[in-house]
This record gives sequence, structure tokens and C-alpha cells, in this order.
Amino acid sequence: MSIQSDDHCVICLEVSGSDENKPIYHLTCGHQFHVLCLYKWRLISQTCPLCRGVFEISSEIYRKCPVELLREIVDIQRQIERDLMEEVRSLTVEIENMRHLYMHFWPDDLN
Ligand SMILES: [Zn+2]
Ligand SMILES: [Zn+2]
Repeated sequence: MSIQSDDHCVICLEVSGSDENKPIYHLTCGHQFHVLCLYKWRLISQTCPLCRGVFEISSEIYRKCPVELLREIVDIQRQIERDLMEEVRSLTVEIENMRHLYMHFWPDDLN
């Protein structure tokens, strides 16, 4: 490992690898970040923050994680699911509203 910009996690800007409770993860593009930072980043992007390479987080990542971190990751996953459910719900409402509108103007069209 060279001691250059790649010993920093560019997501949180902290030096990576200095804290046992903050394991780092190497993406296939070669860049490294904190596990937790990657999970948070994934909420807004599916690409490496440095090179924009598409990243895939393998289950390998969990073996490095302390229990506390796993809990935090589970929380983040739950949040993602909640957001998705919320999106589906609002879409369903929207579709339902459109249907009502349609029926209002063309009541004979829908049987
Ligand atoms: Zn970080
Ligand atoms: Zn990269």
C-alpha cells in the first residue's frame, strides 16, 4: 500500500485503516473506502466516488465488520426498504387518482 491519497476515505475524508471499528473495503476498481461510508454512499450513487466505476459490494464485506457496524448497516438497509415502500405507496396513490380522474371524464370507458 502506498501512503498517498488512497489511504484516505474520500467520502468522509478520514484516514482509512486507522480505526479497527471502521473497516475498509476495496472496490473492484481498486479504490478503498470505509464499509459504512460505502453503504451511505450507495444510497445516493451506484458508482465509485473517485473513478465512477460501477461498484458491487460482495458478502465478503460482512466478514470484516464488527457487530456494531453490522447493526448500522442493517439500519441503512431498512431505511432503503422503507424509502422504496414509500415510493411505491405514493405511486399507487397517484395511479389511483389518475384512474378516478379518468372515470370522472370518461365514465363509460372503464368497465
Ligand atoms: Zn469514510
Ligand atoms: Zn474507483
